Amino acid sequence: MKDRISECEKMPDPDDDPACWTEFMKKNPRRWNELVNMIMFHESCCDSSGVKILAHAVDLVMCSHCDATFPSKKACGSHARAKHGVRCDQRYYADGSATCLVCATSFSSRLRVLAHLCRKNSACWAAVCSSKRPFRRLTDSKVAELDAIDAAARLAAQREGRSTPLALRQRRRANGNFAGRAILG
Ligand SMILES: [Zn+2]
Ligand SMILES: [Zn+2]
Repeated sequence: MKDRISECEKMPDPDDDPACWTEFMKKNPRRWNELVNMIMFHESCCDSSGVKILAHAVDLVMCSHCDATFPSKKACGSHARAKHGVRCDQRYYADGSATCLVCATSFSSRLRVLAHLCRKNSACWAAVCSSKRPFRRLTDSKVAELDAIDAAARLAAQREGRSTPLALRQRRRANGNFAGRAILG
């Protein structure tokens, strides 16, 4: 690789400084995939063991629908949703209790939990993705059931002229305090 692709000539020998290479793979996953594909193409190499070793070295996540690899579960998830029409992974970690399983904030509905987990740079979702301790993942059938309930609630809300289902209760943080402005009645 180092000797065959000019872009990699400037890199140190992978035996001397593997960290420099893993850094490059993590920072430029797309470019790295292109480079790997180039070398596979040039050599029409049938043996993929080399690629597997590299994938192991940086803990790349492999798409379960095609052979694309990604530096993180998150990147792999957005690829699967965009390319393979897979449901957003957050749905598998939001059950009917409407409580965030990471920060234990209790929301008014499951949809609010999903919004909380799907928010850009959601710390709770990052925790689910990176945690060594696996969070309980719902089954496909459970997610389908919960999605159907959410869809029905959304439909009912639309019929009544609201864009989102009514909040049934106020958001409450794990410490018991209510989030947002208190409604005085
Ligand atoms: Zn894929
Ligand atoms: Zn949370």
